[in-house]
Amino acid sequence: MRRNIVAGNWKMNCDISQTYQLLDALKEQDITDDVSVIVAPPFTNLQSANQALLDTEILVAAQNMHQEATGAYTGEVSAAMLKSVGVEVVILGHSERRAIFGETNALLAAKVNTALENEMTIIFCFGEELSDRKAGNHFDVVRQQLQEGIFHIEKENWNNVILAYEPVWAIGTGETATPDQAQEMHHFIRNTLSEVFDTDVSQDVSILYGGSVKPGNAKEIFGKEDVDGGLIGGAALNATDFTAIINAFE
Ligand code: PEP
Repeated sequence: MRRNIVAGNWKMNCDISQTYQLLDALKEQDITDDVSVIVAPPFTNLQSANQALLDTEILVAAQNMHQEATGAYTGEVSAAMLKSVGVEVVILGHSERRAIFGETNALLAAKVNTALENEMTIIFCFGEELSDRKAGNHFDVVRQQLQEGIFHIEKENWNNVILAYEPVWAIGTGETATPDQAQEMHHFIRNTLSEVFDTDVSQDVSILYGGSVKPGNAKEIFGKEDVDGGLIGGAALNATDFTAIINAFE
């Protein structure tokens, strides 16, 4: 059964005291019960965030993880390590991981497998570059990212997947896809899921939109039939703005 979800990707922001401040501010807000809320602080603050949120329904996600279980991978963190500090959700394939850290669809497929083997929930991100959209290739690019990154999984594993369509040209730019552009792509994704899997999968998976979502535009974007919420960057760093985005579902 598909859920409305709003997830905040804090990226490389907030040290431990800023993390506590932001979470305290969030806990003081009046947040609607109709939405599943997730926050993704940096690795160093995951355990503290999890403990600070124990008395709430808010889940904590990691922003990345390594595909191997253990070993000589300096600077990396495994799925089991995340689980050992109570983290059950991981963002994979964010466009910054793809563009800055060279993560390919094949690498992401391996990370997806590891996350699922560890019974984690994945927020799988994908989306086209501005040049793809201008060339009219955006549907092909998105289909290929899904095909190579996540369509190999078994049908039953879709219960542990949340999709996040994030056109790269709209991330951190202030440029937002119009609600109609978001709906058009989300509808395409659902149709593609029906073709490759079946309507159970396509109707049950939550598909989030990400890219400069703000309190002022969230209601219109989330109002679209195939948009089940958002992956929020900049606006997730302000408790009032993040709450206004969540409450856009009310
Ligand atoms: C993101 O980084 O996933 C994102 C959507 O960022 P922003 O909301 O700042 O565009």
